[in-house]
Amino acid sequence: MSPTVAELLERNRQLAATHEPSPTLSEMGKEGKSPPKILIVTCVDPRCNPAEFLGLNTGDALVFRNICGHITPVLKDIAAFDVFLGLSDIMVIHHTDCGATHFTDDFIRDGLKKRFPTNGDIDSMSFGAITDLEQSVKDDLEILRKSPLITKELAERSVGFVYDIKSGLLTAVEE
Ligand SMILES: [Zn+2]
Repeated sequence: MSPTVAELLERNRQLAATHEPSPTLSEMGKEGKSPPKILIVTCVDPRCNPAEFLGLNTGDALVFRNICGHITPVLKDIAAFDVFLGLSDIMVIHHTDCGATHFTDDFIRDGLKKRFPTNGDIDSMSFGAITDLEQSVKDDLEILRKSPLITKELAERSVGFVYDIKSGLLTAVEE
């Protein structure tokens, strides 16, 4: 059973008792610590947790997670981070048995139109459903390469992978 919000808040109170204070950005600058340079875009699915399968420590990488791990919903954020922090690499990671392969955009649109019948914008919305994992990684890399907000250098240093939830391994997607 998933915990309740109240249970999570209780956990927070307990964890805060032994919390190590995080440095502010200016403290990090004074200590010569650099912010993360690698940005990871992956799925929100709890089974696809890059902290686990990449052994990430705090500060190793920036992680964006959304349905499937698509670029479009976070493209502006990536561009902003690159200006602010200077990114070196982007990893796009989709995963086997992704929920996005189990629903269709039409299914979500129909559900939303039932809930919000007067909203005329829903028909033109997409919700990240995919049918082919490797192709979806390639499509997201293509969005980076074609974006007028992403530098050529960063787009060229963007790589795509499929994460296998059974083996725990990443497989590179060749373009
Ligand atoms: Zn997923």
